[in-house]
Amino acid sequence: MKSGWVDRDAEAMVADGAKVGIDPDLSLRTYTTRLLGRDPKLVLHGGGNTSLKTKMRDLHGTEVEVLRVKASGADMASIEPAGFPALRLEPMRKLRALATIGDEELLGIERANLIEPRAPNPSVEVMLHAFLPHKFVDHTHATAVLSVIDQPHGEEISAEVFGNMAFVPYLMPGFGLAKKAIEVFERAPSCEGLILSKHGFVTFGETAREAYERMIAFVSRAEDFIARNRKSAAASPSARRPPPVAEVAPIVRGACSQKDDRSDGAWRRLVLDFRSSDAVLDFLDSKDLPRLSDAGVVTPDHTIRTKNWPLVLNAPAPARMGEFTQSAREKAQEFTKRYGDYFARHNKRAGGNKRELDPLPRVVLVRGLGLFGLGRTKEDAVIAADIAEVWVECLRDAEAIGRFESISEADMFDCEYWPLEQAKLGARKEPPLLGQVAAITGAGGAIGAATAKCFAAAGAEVALLDVDRTAAREQANAVGAHALALACDVTDGGSVSAAFEKIAEHFGGVDIVVSNAGAAWQGRIGEVDEDILHKSFELNFYGHQRVAQAAVRIMRVQGTGGCLLFNVSKQAVNPGPNFGPYGIPKAAALALMRQYALDYGADGIRANAVNADRIRSGLLTPQMIASRAEARGVSEKDYMTGNLLGREVAAEDVAQAFLHQALALKTTADVTTVDGGNIAAAMR
Ligand SMILES: [Zn+2]
Repeated sequence: MKSGWVDRDAEAMVADGAKVGIDPDLSLRTYTTRLLGRDPKLVLHGGGNTSLKTKMRDLHGTEVEVLRVKASGADMASIEPAGFPALRLEPMRKLRALATIGDEELLGIERANLIEPRAPNPSVEVMLHAFLPHKFVDHTHATAVLSVIDQPHGEEISAEVFGNMAFVPYLMPGFGLAKKAIEVFERAPSCEGLILSKHGFVTFGETAREAYERMIAFVSRAEDFIARNRKSAAASPSARRPPPVAEVAPIVRGACSQKDDRSDGAWRRLVLDFRSSDAVLDFLDSKDLPRLSDAGVVTPDHTIRTKNWPLVLNAPAPARMGEFTQSAREKAQEFTKRYGDYFARHNKRAGGNKRELDPLPRVVLVRGLGLFGLGRTKEDAVIAADIAEVWVECLRDAEAIGRFESISEADMFDCEYWPLEQAKLGARKEPPLLGQVAAITGAGGAIGAATAKCFAAAGAEVALLDVDRTAAREQANAVGAHALALACDVTDGGSVSAAFEKIAEHFGGVDIVVSNAGAAWQGRIGEVDEDILHKSFELNFYGHQRVAQAAVRIMRVQGTGGCLLFNVSKQAVNPGPNFGPYGIPKAAALALMRQYALDYGADGIRANAVNADRIRSGLLTPQMIASRAEARGVSEKDYMTGNLLGREVAAEDVAQAFLHQALALKTTADVTTVDGGNIAAAMR
């Protein structure tokens, strides 16, 4: 590993900071923290923290010694100087006299000693930084270091590999570990860093560069040691011809879902993120996989993201997917049972006042295929998959030089259920569609885009499909970083299948489909060209059928129900003159919705439709509004509000109707009218 320090960049940071009154030490603290944070081999998703001891003026103008430490949960890769809350150092150091202190009490003392009262909470490892005397302290969970120290004889190996480092035996992160670390340091005051057994690494120095480059030097030693001592791996890769990820993912997703007892028909679902590489596949082929998969996390704080062990599934064979589904479901059930037992056992030991987290796996290993990270959101699934990949790498290297060993199950439980660790995940209010995946066709248009935004705001992960890829991309960007944009022409069966395969690959499956793509054709029915009718049927009827068919296939594999929503238009029940080519396939689409409700109700799949009218969109353009209003001799405003309520109907109103139907678990074969009131178009 090479140092990322560049003099020019460091100087620029200091110069930019000086312009806004930031102390050079804090600028350099920020600079090297970012250098550490940008390398996933050093720091991953909030693991790791850094600090600086300096002087500053408090709110009274008095100069005081302070500890500036990374805020809890802050991302080191993009941290700003404000991401290092400042605490009065002396009162924090005095705490060393205490034998122990409760989490709440410690947090209270921390907040009482913040120089800026509104600053974020300091890192959970703040006391480690406070007790050590050095100006700059860096702490990481570097993968190569973990491979060396997560061993039965970690202390002996560390002495050989790292030289001038002191070894701190395992204790849970927090106050106890901080006290132990300073005791160890005081017995070896000339050391250049501390090894925290089964957890990570601390380096320090008088300058930001010294602490950072010591970290890089020690990580390099670990990397060299692994490279030199690697036993030649006797890999015997299985002949791999696995089925596509898109086939396997919905099976895994369905197996790792849980009925939600709060409402009949509700499920607690997870979103998936798939990874595979030669390293992952070799690991999955290992004859030691049963032992390794149960061996535990590589550093304690990973347990809140991945749980302590993954769910392991056998290699799926393309011709025997039914068998794979059966065994995946059984193994997932065994997993949740085992997790429940683990919780009960350790909760009893810890005093019985913890609340069990959901027992579903967060990492699934599929032999011969790869691994899935799972989470309630795509973001959480990505984090779990990132950590799982590092876990594989770390275990492979640990086994290449010896034998991997983690902390005990009791220690893992104490970290998983430590309120300060859980606080990193934030007190989340669960939005109603959390964990669900929604696919929306025609998502580049007004109603589709409004629906995608509305469903994402309700917690769903969304895939935006449109024949115009650019339009889908633009709307997806407006929805958020994890929204998926796909080109999809619903008049082409191959295009629809390919889009749904991508959705299954990307999110693990699909739960809600809003079949919205459509276009209007006109013509007097007795005289219209048959080609026009064919075109309209291709899009306004067969398009819905293709989309629904592709979705139902995935939903049935998942086995957790689902919801099909169709944009049918008021034309289905209240035809307009010369609008037959549009209205007739829409009437057929209404019948299609009812047929799906009938044929798949027993699978828990609901089908509903929205009849909307007079929405400003690609169908009803400003020019069209102008010409229709003129034809009727009314103003444009009167034309748009020409309904019983006298209100203009917007795309967002249609989106709300779809959301209502997605949430109404006891409603199927329903048509909701969104037209401001039009008795001639009312359902009867
Ligand atoms: Zn740590």
